[in-house]
Amino acid sequence: MRLTGKTRLAGIMGWPVAHSRSPALHNFWIEEHGLDGVYVPLPVRPEQLRQALLALPVLGFRGCNLTIPHKQMALSVVDRVEPLARRIGAMNTVVVAADGSLEGRNTDVYGFCESLREGAPDWRPTHGPAVVLGAGGAARAVVAALIEMGVGELRLVNRTRDRAKRVAEELTGLPGGISILPWEARDAALEDAGLLVNATSLGMTGEPELSIDLARLPRRAVVTDLVYVPIETALLASARRRGHCCVDGLGMLLHQGRPGFEAWFGTPVRVTPELRAAVLSTLVAPR
Ligand code: NAP
Repeated sequence: MRLTGKTRLAGIMGWPVAHSRSPALHNFWIEEHGLDGVYVPLPVRPEQLRQALLALPVLGFRGCNLTIPHKQMALSVVDRVEPLARRIGAMNTVVVAADGSLEGRNTDVYGFCESLREGAPDWRPTHGPAVVLGAGGAARAVVAALIEMGVGELRLVNRTRDRAKRVAEELTGLPGGISILPWEARDAALEDAGLLVNATSLGMTGEPELSIDLARLPRRAVVTDLVYVPIETALLASARRRGHCCVDGLGMLLHQGRPGFEAWFGTPVRVTPELRAAVLSTLVAPR
């Protein structure tokens, strides 16, 4: 690490924040490019978020990432919010402009699109309806991403119908619309689908397994799971056994970091096998 006094600073605000893999990700890129910079975890209580964000330019920070529970609340603190983040209703990246003002962005959409392009280069939005399981923050980013990518029909399956309805209302723009399906209809929803995305927390270590029967999913459909602990979820394992192209959740996590890094440190970065291995080792190592 090189700290010269002109060091570029960035970090991640969350409460708690110790679980975040973002420091491992960004400090890998800092080391890789020999930059005079550092990326630090910033444990910030929700009631002190405003104070902490407004302190960023004062302390010389180039910006920060935001994680739970700050992604919505920060929208009302920053000076400008990019339209995509406004539409999704959540921001995960703050960039301090040259005049000290704060700009809010959402890079999860970018992360999902890039991860899908990288992991399933042959997938096309025209291959059939996309089925998204979940209607939380991650699902919102996925739905926005699929709309951006030009998916014609989207089936949103969630346990709580009202939550899915809100997502569909707030993120409209599809010619075929978004159909809301009950959780019990998840197996049938796979008929003719070209893409299946698990954006629930099911299958994550400590959570119940995702129970779904893939029998009706066409073999050429791509299966992606946003859960990345464990990296190979039961969903991905059974999809792989059926011969589906599978995309794990780590790619999205890594790619979503790129726009923020490039804005703060002024250096373009890539997702390489070495980066994947470095961040993966933090997922399996005890913390
Ligand atoms: P969230 O806002 O809490 O949403 C959780 C979702 O899971 C909701 O749709 C919820 O349904 C559903 N769910 C939870 N328990 C369920 C159960 N027993 N049965 C059926 N549905 C259930 O969480 P989030 O922020 O969207 O995150 C979701 C997952 O994505 C997490 O595992 C997170 O780690 C992962 N993620 C990954 C990335 C990445 O970069 N790879 C980025 C963001 C998130 P209800 O609406 O009915 O409660």
